[in-house]
Order: sequence, then C-alpha cells, then structure tokens
Amino acid sequence: MNDRNDRIFQAFGVSADSPEWKDWRWQYRNRIRDASGLSRVLDMSDAEKADVTACLARFRMAVTPYYASLIDPLDPRDPVRMQAVPSIRETEVYPWETPDPLGEEKASPVKNIVRRYPDRALFLVTGCCPMYCRHCTRRRLVGERDGAITDAEADEALDYIRRTPEIRDVLISGGDPLTMSDARLEYILSGLRTIEHVEVVRIGTRAPVTLPMRITPELLAMLKKYQPVWINTHFNHARELTEDSAGACGRIVDAGIPLGNQSVLLRGINDSAGAIKDLMLKLVKIRVRPYYLYQCDLVEGLEHFRTDVRTGIGIIRELTGNISGFAIPEFVADAPGGGGKIPLGPNYVVSVDDEKVVMENYLGEIYEYPQPAERM
Ligand SMILES: *Cc1c(COP(=O)(O)O)cnc(C)c1O
Ligand code: SF4
Repeated sequence: MNDRNDRIFQAFGVSADSPEWKDWRWQYRNRIRDASGLSRVLDMSDAEKADVTACLARFRMAVTPYYASLIDPLDPRDPVRMQAVPSIRETEVYPWETPDPLGEEKASPVKNIVRRYPDRALFLVTGCCPMYCRHCTRRRLVGERDGAITDAEADEALDYIRRTPEIRDVLISGGDPLTMSDARLEYILSGLRTIEHVEVVRIGTRAPVTLPMRITPELLAMLKKYQPVWINTHFNHARELTEDSAGACGRIVDAGIPLGNQSVLLRGINDSAGAIKDLMLKLVKIRVRPYYLYQCDLVEGLEHFRTDVRTGIGIIRELTGNISGFAIPEFVADAPGGGGKIPLGPNYVVSVDDEKVVMENYLGEIYEYPQPAERM
C-alpha cells in the first residue's frame, strides 16, 4: 500500500480518518479542477501550471482528493499523476484522430444508446466522472455534457430497449454511472428490470479506483435487488490498489456481483509486461477478474499515450503460460470507424489444414494436433 501524499490532508484540513474524507459526496464536491488546485498538492513549475491551464481550455479536468492523494508529489512521471494531470501534449491533434473514432454517434439508434452488437446495448447515462482520465476514449461527451440524463431521456432509451427484443445485455456507462445518486441509478435499473428480454445488466464504473467510498452498503443493497448485475471497473496500475480500493472491490464481490477489470495500455504508465503482470496478479488477489486490455483509441489528444500494437501482443505473450489463465486479460482494439472490439492476439496457431493443427506453446515449442479422421 502506498504512502499518502500528506499535502492533500493539509490542503483540505482533514485526515484519512475524517468523516468528510470517507464521504463520497465530500470527495466529489472537493475535486481539484485547475492548476492552482493542483499546485497546492503537487510540485509544479510555473511552466507546468501554464500548460495545465492551456490544456483546460480544450478539455476539463477533475481529480478527487482521494485519487490525488495517491500521487507521488515529487515524481512528474508518476503513473497516477499521468492519468489525472493534463499534459500540454493533449493539445496536439493529428490527422488520424477524431472526436469519435469508434463511430458511436452513427451507431446510436436513439439518444444515449449505442448499439454495436445485436444482443447488447451501451446506455450512456451521464457525462460526469469522479476523475476525468486524461486517456478517456469518450472525452467528446465526458466532462462536456453536464450532469446525468433526465428521466424523460432515460424513458426514451428504455423504450428503445423495450421494443428491441434482441437486446439481452445492457451496459450502463457514461461517464460514470456511480456519480448519480442511488435513487437516480435505481430509476434506470428498475426500468430495465421491467423488460423481460434484458437478462443481464452491466455497470461500467471507475469509482472503485477513483472514489472507493462511493461503494456504500446502501448502494450495494440497492444493486442486489436487480441481479444479475455485473460490474466492470478500470484499474491501470498497481499503484491504484490501496486498502480503500481493495475494500470497495471486496464489498462489491461480497454482494454477489461479479467484478471485472478493463485496462488501457498507456505509454509511460503501464506499457511493460512487468507492470501489467503486477497489476493483474494483484487484481485476482482481491477477486477482480481481468477482462480486457485495450489498445489506446485514436481520440484527439491521446497520441502521446499510444503504444506500438506489438507491445500489447508481446505483453500478453509474456504472461500466457507464466501466470494463471484467469489473470490474463484479452488484448483488444476497438476498430476505428466502428467495427467493434477485435482480439489482437498473440496467436499460437502456426498452421491449420484438413490433417492437423501445428501450434506453439508458451515456451515457443511446436506441437501437432491431428484433426478428426471422420468428418461430416
Ligand atoms: C464494449 C462494448 C460493448 C460490450 O462488449 P463486450 O465485448 O460484450 O464486453 C457493447 N456495446 C458497445 C458499443 C461497446 O463498445
Ligand atoms: S472514468 Fe471512464 S468515462 Fe470517466 S473519464 Fe475515465 S475513462 Fe472516461
């Protein structure tokens, strides 16, 4: 577990044991939102402050005091800091970047719904997050649109799901759905549960990482009424695993909610086999199941985070066979233009024909498996 950045407690006049600190609404209200707020808790040169301010003209920032307390104030390359603090490089725009590289707008049959796959729908319920990740794929909406959707907008999306019987899995995301009150979230969950063909509901939230005090007994008691509910969260680095975040994850799993993790591969933050292995092994120790590892999307201002695709494939190859299979995420890219998620490998099949499969094990040794003699 990390040492806390004590400057946070001085700046806010609280301690880690204060009731305010443990209150998610206090954390949310007191988010750090500009260069002067950052400079109270981190070492920043005047040039860095000017860069942050320049970046904020284009993209919003917000950091919970809790998440800021994980930053090493003296290390400009700190992996927590790099996810939270704007870089001037976000203002660089390249020709291959767009605000909406996944074509989500054109895959939207009604407002706030994205339908990429026949049997599932992505339901964007808010534009707010506890922290605005610098690498956010959906930054065209997130931090731009104020607040959560209205009840009327929710009803319109629910009506679409109701009249589309192919949809059996609804993914509630945003923004972060757990920035909504329990009552507002319950309005949506209870609405979904009146639709018979919706078998599974998923919630995508970074709250266990950036605002772990949001995972209250009251929230979990509410979610339990609408089972089966699955949650996916978003840890990117082992430094984000603290007593608080592990506690939040443990409470979710104890409530009978399966908890998965999606990470984004980010240059200078977690782009090594060592960093990913450390994170994945620590996640399974707290009963979080690694799900996806994403190649960074072609979103405006993210060029400095992108890695060579072979880096991700190489990382998964190093993990495969060397750690538990269930500790290894699937490495995927979301296809530019809107083709959905595509697994990128690694590939262990050397060749396949009518006679046999030639395949490679994790040590690079070659094996043959004969095809069945009898075929249809
Ligand atoms: C990622 C995603 C889903 C869910 O995909 P899974 O592979 O089932 O996790 C659904 N809809 C959209 C638009 C998505 O981007
Ligand atoms: S929590 Fe998710 S939606 Fe919110 S800023 Fe981070 S990546 Fe974007």
